[in-house]
Amino acid sequence: MPIINRIAEFHADMTAWRRDLHAHPETAFEEHRTSDLVAECLESFGVEVHRGLAGTGVVGTIRNGEGPAIGLRADMDALHIPEANTFGHASKHEGKMHACGHDGHTAMLLGAARYLAETKRFKGTVHVIFQPAEENEGGGRVMVEEGLFKTFPVQGVYGMHNWPGLPAGHFAVRSGPIMASYDVFEITVTGRGSHAAMPHQAVDPIVVAADIVGALQTVVSRSMDPLESAVLSVTQVHAGDTWNVIPDVAVLRGTVRAFQPAVQDQVEAAINRIARGLCQTHGATCATRYERRYPPTINSAAETELAARAAAAVAGMDRVEHRPTPSMGSEDFSFMLRERPGSYIWLGNGPGQGGCMLHNPGYDFNDEVLPVGASYWATLVEQVLPQDG
Ligand SMILES: [Zn+2]
Ligand SMILES: [Zn+2]
Repeated sequence: MPIINRIAEFHADMTAWRRDLHAHPETAFEEHRTSDLVAECLESFGVEVHRGLAGTGVVGTIRNGEGPAIGLRADMDALHIPEANTFGHASKHEGKMHACGHDGHTAMLLGAARYLAETKRFKGTVHVIFQPAEENEGGGRVMVEEGLFKTFPVQGVYGMHNWPGLPAGHFAVRSGPIMASYDVFEITVTGRGSHAAMPHQAVDPIVVAADIVGALQTVVSRSMDPLESAVLSVTQVHAGDTWNVIPDVAVLRGTVRAFQPAVQDQVEAAINRIARGLCQTHGATCATRYERRYPPTINSAAETELAARAAAAVAGMDRVEHRPTPSMGSEDFSFMLRERPGSYIWLGNGPGQGGCMLHNPGYDFNDEVLPVGASYWATLVEQVLPQDG
């Protein structure tokens, strides 16, 4: 079963929604116009609409008799990136753009909701979840904390992201970890400032911080199982204001990525051990902060098989890649997957030529794949909630 014919008929509408959203990008928790557009569309399809979770979040509910419930999630937010494209639907909001394709994700889920509300070839309940603030601010976490799955109980929850570099309309599915965790850390080294010509009167926090940066390079290379994956990057070094003063304080900041909570624990402990140990060695004092922003995105096995089956029904077996290399990027759909089993899959956006890569100012969602993604959602529902089941 390739693209569903009825959904193919919505291609022009989905393209119009997608381009309208692209021209009017809104960032974390400020997706008011987007949220209104989503709610109005859903209402026009006859879908029951609930608003206000995480502020701008929208959940549409489509019921057909008694049966299990499924959650389908799209994200609505844009990024703080000035758009480099000059086509007709380029961003009208200065400094903001849909550079991650969430405009396309929203349009595909709207297309699927319209089809499901019209045809109802399933038995049970479908909740279409439109979340704010996927980028940086964890809108998915806020929806979960505000009772998403208590108000809208589901047996499984599914997510999809477009993937430049994967051929247009192909899918990639992977059981287990597919995206990494996103943690941040800060190390504050407090020494004693002095005249730079009299270093013996100082405890130089810059020298200590430099030692710490060097020693942190051993965390992944020397203290981790080589078959596990992690990234530890120091991304900020702040100290001093002038030529001839040894400052009091140096601050290091950075990020950690991993796929396993045990690895996050291990890296956090190593950062603390190294920072404190080196501060003590040099007679400085140390304060560390480690913050877990997004957990790893971990797909459950059974639901990933269901996702793979639906993807193959739409795109064909030979266009579904199994077990792609996971990404060290992160995704706040992980918060939903911590609460319910489910699967997050990638939909090919094409080769990514000319800067058409995620978070690039030249990116644009590929409208050709809109009916493929919407057909995936619809097929997944019809297969997971069969009418004769
Ligand atoms: Zn993004
Ligand atoms: Zn994204």
